[in-house]
Amino acid sequence: MDYQKLAARLFPDVVQTPQDMELRFPPRALPEGAVVSRMAPSPTGFVHLGNLVQGFTSERLSHQSGGVHFLRVEDTDAKREVPGAVQVLIESLRHYHITFDEGATVDGDAGDYGPYRQSHRAQIYHIYAKFLVEQGMAYPCFCTEEELGAMRARQEAEKVNFGYYGPFAVWRDRPMEDIEAELAKGTPWVLRFRSTGSIENKIKFTDLIKGNLELTENDMDHVLLKSDGIPTYHFAHAVDDHLMRTTLVVRGDEWLPSLPFHVQLFRALGFRLPKYAHIGPLMKMDGTSKRKLSKRKDPELALTYYRAQGYPTEAVSEYLMTILNSNFEDWRRANPDAPLESFAFSIKKMNPAGSLFDVDKLRDVSKNVISRMNAAQVYAYVLDWAQQFDPEFAAALSRDPMTSTAIFAIGRGGKKPRKDLAVWSEAKAYMGFFFDEFFVMEDAVDPKFAKADICLALRAFAANYNPADGQDVWFDKIKTIAQTLGYASDMKAYRASPDAYRGSVADVSMFLRIAVTGKLNSPDMYEVMRILGAERVRARIDAMLAAL
Ligand code: GLU
Repeated sequence: MDYQKLAARLFPDVVQTPQDMELRFPPRALPEGAVVSRMAPSPTGFVHLGNLVQGFTSERLSHQSGGVHFLRVEDTDAKREVPGAVQVLIESLRHYHITFDEGATVDGDAGDYGPYRQSHRAQIYHIYAKFLVEQGMAYPCFCTEEELGAMRARQEAEKVNFGYYGPFAVWRDRPMEDIEAELAKGTPWVLRFRSTGSIENKIKFTDLIKGNLELTENDMDHVLLKSDGIPTYHFAHAVDDHLMRTTLVVRGDEWLPSLPFHVQLFRALGFRLPKYAHIGPLMKMDGTSKRKLSKRKDPELALTYYRAQGYPTEAVSEYLMTILNSNFEDWRRANPDAPLESFAFSIKKMNPAGSLFDVDKLRDVSKNVISRMNAAQVYAYVLDWAQQFDPEFAAALSRDPMTSTAIFAIGRGGKKPRKDLAVWSEAKAYMGFFFDEFFVMEDAVDPKFAKADICLALRAFAANYNPADGQDVWFDKIKTIAQTLGYASDMKAYRASPDAYRGSVADVSMFLRIAVTGKLNSPDMYEVMRILGAERVRARIDAMLAAL
C-alpha cells in the first residue's frame, strides 16, 4: 500500500507538517522542575466539584513549581455544548481562585500555544492525522453504524471482547481500490489508529497519584477522527498536550483505562509522554457504604449549589484541600491565618482511591472560615448572597449598612469567636429578628413558667431598663430582678437546690430573649438590645406582655 498516496488522498488540503508545528510551538523556556499543567474541561454548562478538585490540583502543582497553568476548552462534542458555558466555566473557576496564565478566555485566547479551543484546531489535528496515515499507523474505516452494530452482536454471540480489533478490524488492510471506491461514492469515513498492541501484554506505568501500575496493552483500532473530521478526546489529548508543552496531565481516573492507548499514540506520533496524575473520584457515604458523587442524585456536586446555599468560596476551597491533602488540617491548625496558597500542596498526600466528601465537615470548615472574617466582610458577603437569592432581605440589610455590620460584629473577633454561621443563607434566621419585618415569635417560653410570673419579670426589666447602662450594670439589674422575684441569681446556688427557687437568672434572661428576639437562641442579649435601641426593646417587651 502506498501510504503517501493514501494520505494525500485523504487530506488533500494539508500542506503543513509536524515539523512546522514543532517550530510554531517550541518547547517552553522554563526552569528545571517547572510544571506545565492544564484544565481541559468540556463546556457543558455544568461546573462541578470534580472540576474544582482537578483544577486545584493542576493549579497548585504548576504555580507552586513556577510553571504554567492553562485552560483548554474541549469543545469537540457540539451536541453537549451549551451557549455561554465557557463564560460560566471561567467565572466559576475565577471565583475559586483557579487562575490561568494562558488559555481560552471568554471571547478568545491569551497565550502563544493556542488556539485553546479544540474546535479551532481542526487544521492542526489533520496535520498529525495525515502524518500517521503516511506512516501506515492510521487508516480510514467506512463501516456504517449498522455494520458496527452487527459486529457487536456477533461478538456478543461469540462471547469475545467488543470492539474494533484483530479480525473485526475489517478496514485495516483493505487494498487502495476498495478505499478509492468508497471515497468515490462519498461514503463517510472515520480515521482509525492501527494498533500493534496485544491484550497478552502488559505495560508498566507510574502514575503520580496511583503509583506503579500494570495495564493491559491496547489492541483496539480506536477512532482518531470522526466522520466530520473532528478528533476524539484521545487524539486531541495527544496532539494538544504535546504542542502546548504540557508536562503533567492531571485528570480524573475514568481516563486510566485509556492510558495504554494514549501511550501508543504518543509513541506513534513521536511525542514524549507527559507525566500523569489520575485523581480518584469524590465519594460520599450512603448509609454505611461509599459511593461516587452522582450528578443525578447529589445536588452538592454542582458548584451552583454552593453559591445558592451561600458557602464562602474560601470555605469550599479550604474544605477541598482538607480532603485532597491528608496533612492539610494539621497545617491549618498550626497556621490558622495563613493564606491557602502558602500550604505546600503535595501530590504524594493524595488518596489514590479518591476522597470522601462530607457536607457536615464542610459546614464545620465553613463555620471556622466565617468566624475568622470581620463584620464588614460578613456583611458584604451576606448582602451579595441576598441580592441574588433573597432581595427582600438584601433591601433590609442595606437600609442601614452600619447597623447591619454592627449586628454581624456581635461575638466576632477575640480569641473565641462565635461560630453561628455556616452559610450565608442562614444569616436571616440568625439575625433577621433585628428587622421588624422579619421578626417573628419562633419559640415560646417553657410552659412550666406561669404567665403572670413572666409578666412580672418583663415589667420589672422594662421599668429599670436604661440603654446607657454598661453591660455589668445591665446584667446586675437582671440579677436583682431575678432575686426579688424568687429566682436564683447565682447558678451554683440554683443547681445545689433548684426546688428552693422559681428558676434562675438564666430563665429571666430567657423571658427577655424571647420577647426581644423571638428565639431561645440568639447572639449576646446586651449587644442585641444596644443595637435594637431602647424604643424597640420596649415595644417588643410590650408586645409580648400584651400577647401573654
Ligand atoms: N475533557 C476531558 C474531561 O473533561 C479532559 C480530561 C483531561 O484533562 O485530559 O474529562
